[in-house]
Amino acid sequence: MPKRVVVIGGGAAGMMAAGQAAAGGANVILLDKMKRLGSKIAISGKGRCNLTNAGDISSFISYYPGNGKFLYAALKEFDNEALIRFFKKYGVDTKVERGGRVFPIADDSEVIITALKKFLTQNGVEIRLNQTVTDIIVEEGKTKGVHLAGNDEIVLADVVIVAAGGASYPGTGSTGDGFTMAVKTGHKVIKPLPALVPLKTAEHWPKALQGLTLKNVSVSLWVDGKKQGDEFGEMLFTHFGVSGPIILTLSRMASKALDQKQRVDLKLNLKPALTPEQMDLRLQRDFAKYSNKQFANALDDLLPQSFIPVMVDLSGIAPEKVVNKITKEERKKLCRLFQDLPMKITATLGMATAIVTCGGVDVKQINPTTMESRRVKGLFFAGEVIDIDGVTGGYNLQAAFATGYKAGNAAVKYL
Ligand SMILES: Cc1cc2nc3c(=O)[nH]c(=O)nc-3n(C[C@H](O)[C@H](O)[C@H](O)COP(=O)(O)OP(=O)(O)OC[C@H]3O[C@@H](n4cnc5c(N)ncnc54)[C@H](O)[C@@H]3O)c2cc1C
Repeated sequence: MPKRVVVIGGGAAGMMAAGQAAAGGANVILLDKMKRLGSKIAISGKGRCNLTNAGDISSFISYYPGNGKFLYAALKEFDNEALIRFFKKYGVDTKVERGGRVFPIADDSEVIITALKKFLTQNGVEIRLNQTVTDIIVEEGKTKGVHLAGNDEIVLADVVIVAAGGASYPGTGSTGDGFTMAVKTGHKVIKPLPALVPLKTAEHWPKALQGLTLKNVSVSLWVDGKKQGDEFGEMLFTHFGVSGPIILTLSRMASKALDQKQRVDLKLNLKPALTPEQMDLRLQRDFAKYSNKQFANALDDLLPQSFIPVMVDLSGIAPEKVVNKITKEERKKLCRLFQDLPMKITATLGMATAIVTCGGVDVKQINPTTMESRRVKGLFFAGEVIDIDGVTGGYNLQAAFATGYKAGNAAVKYL
């Protein structure tokens, strides 16, 4: 039998690995449990696919709070520019948006999937859909193939590349099977947790603000009373709590702390450009301007309309109180609310809505220059199944493509 590579999972990492191995001359079978390839790519970037980031590659590693250093070799071989060139070759022109986010000009993730399919078929990859892999066959420390669900079929292979994704958005096919297979073949899996995920608050007032986006605010995250992170930018209130870019970035820390049963609090600073003294002076100025108005009508210059009743309520100052009757203590308390508005986090919204999984196959058990397991010969890992995760902005897809590229090339060398 000619030497064969089996790739488990037809997402970003699996398609890149399969095409690359086939381009190198291997006989490749790509298996996916879903009825189509690239289900997660299809919904990525709100259906537009933010495939990578145009930022300087030397700073890329810092955008992966989860084991960025592991990606050094993969990103060196297949960086953002190489990825953009790859898609151009397969007919996708790209553009750069705010924050260096790279999207196809077509604003449609389907063009990315079409390009990857072209890459697969041009290189002769055999694509088999609706095929769920249940087990990897290992004999004497080497991969021998995989078991398929249903009719107990075995697909023999000299190399198996596990690109089965994480456990987030399970409707896309990534239900954590890769983690189970890794454990069964003797690998350590760092507990998978949701990351880049909205957060639920104990307080009910965010519900009153649902749909409201705040820009240029800062939010700090506190674990058991200690500050762990601080983000500046945009956030959103929802019916369950908080979401939006800066919340998603902080959510990874919240997820880990909640898993450890630690207390998690957020503090929202609505006026981060002001020192506490400047904030107080600003309030004094507005109160002087509106001195004969009722308190509830004196915050128009400081807050979006929908926020005013919430802030009035939180302040404990009667809404009908005339502004010139507000005491210094009341004003000081209001000052603190503007710059230190607390929210207790009770939970994340869970894997169902997490953009990425943190945790996965322990990077110590994978060779970063080949993506091969250090435990089983001929077994490779690529993409989100590995314990790596990045922030939003195209970093997660870049990691999946780069590790897939490396695994595909290394598989050919292994054969
Ligand atoms: C809503 C959303 C939006 C996102 N937007 C972006 C974005 O714009 N930019 C960005 O960089 N990242 C984004 N991400 C993250 C990014 O999409 C993922 O990190 C990336 O797609 C992971 O690629 P992967 O190939 O490792 O895994 P996946 O894309 O999850 O692919 C895994 C594949 O394996 C298959 N599979 C699983 N188990 C089995 C099995 N037992 N047998 C056979 N097949 C199996 C699955 O069906 C699936 O097709 C987003 C994620 C979500 C959920």
